[in-house]
Amino acid sequence: MYNVKKLPKKLKVISDCCPSIKKGGKFINPWPSSKSQSKKKHFFETYLRFITRRSFRKQPEEKFVKVDVDLKSLNEYSQNQNDVALQVTWLGHAATFLQINGFNILFDPLLSFRASPFPFIGPYRYRKRGFKSFSDLPQIDILIISHNHYDHLDKKTIKEMLEEEKNKQIHIFCPLGIKKWFLKHFNLENKQITEGDWWDDFEIIKNKTISEKQKIQVSFVPAQHSSRRGLFDCNKSLWGGWVIKSDDASFYFAGDTGYRAIPENCSNNERLKYPYCPLFTQIGKIYGPFDYACIPIGPSNNTNIVTPMHVDPTDAINIHKEIYSHHSIPIHWGTVANFSTIEITHDPQKLRQSMKNSGLPLEEFDVAYIGEIYRLNKKDTLKVKVNKQLQ
Ligand SMILES: [Zn+2]
Ligand SMILES: [Zn+2]
Repeated sequence: MYNVKKLPKKLKVISDCCPSIKKGGKFINPWPSSKSQSKKKHFFETYLRFITRRSFRKQPEEKFVKVDVDLKSLNEYSQNQNDVALQVTWLGHAATFLQINGFNILFDPLLSFRASPFPFIGPYRYRKRGFKSFSDLPQIDILIISHNHYDHLDKKTIKEMLEEEKNKQIHIFCPLGIKKWFLKHFNLENKQITEGDWWDDFEIIKNKTISEKQKIQVSFVPAQHSSRRGLFDCNKSLWGGWVIKSDDASFYFAGDTGYRAIPENCSNNERLKYPYCPLFTQIGKIYGPFDYACIPIGPSNNTNIVTPMHVDPTDAINIHKEIYSHHSIPIHWGTVANFSTIEITHDPQKLRQSMKNSGLPLEEFDVAYIGEIYRLNKKDTLKVKVNKQLQ
């Protein structure tokens, strides 16, 4: 049903794009920005406190942001696709639903209860997903996975999705080293799964009608992060973000990423002393600008532990700027309990304050509720293109 081909390597300047690197069988983050700035003893003390709190924290109340998935609009997209260039919906945590050039694409769906190898312990989703079953959603053409952490690669959700008859032809894009997990756990054909290395570009085509084909480009880009599901597989599979492009829209999904490792209680001026990850400038240069981007903003507490692998709202705004995003949607916050020890309002408030400090209009990067739909109409993209030519 889908035709996938790897595109020839574009003329990317090697200093502009860092290839994935394996050392001793493990992938690494090749940037100084991923090195923890915490003193070892202090790091382990705080880490112990951090994971203990994570395990015993009470379920927060469902408040602050609503859950309201507009299933009618998601399903009507197939009739409106001649007018709509792109439609994107956040489903909580990193789960994101993108509709572009006739394709329905689901990213990192953690849409079951618990993000853990065990059914009774570990981080869990405390906010609803906004739909009853996958039969309520349109057919999923593509599943895209950023890395194998439990809060991004959820076996239960994928099982539920594949049980739905209309989703059985799905195509899956995942990082190097994850294909075998899919083949082991699900009744999928080898050709249904494409693994990506950093900076790989793919083209995927589907038949809209017998004579009309639809096409998008799917590219795998780096992130400053890690991978692990068990005791012995640390960093054995790759991690990264994804870029999706059609003729009239572009989208970036950052997945899970750090930007620069900073110590605890670091002021905005002080953080400038620490190295930052150069890859977002590279992504912006090669694939930008983007109409929409999903960028993580949390967790933003215990900075000395989390910042080598995660980004806080202040640095998320740097990513927004460096990739040339017209509009960014914060992800990786407000959905999973025990994942972070802070109030649900903490990361969004910090984002708004940082946007204010940066002098950017809040509409460029503001909090969405679960199910909120962002739409880019084709006539709007035409307007932008015409204006650009006039300049
Ligand atoms: Zn992760
Ligand atoms: Zn995560």
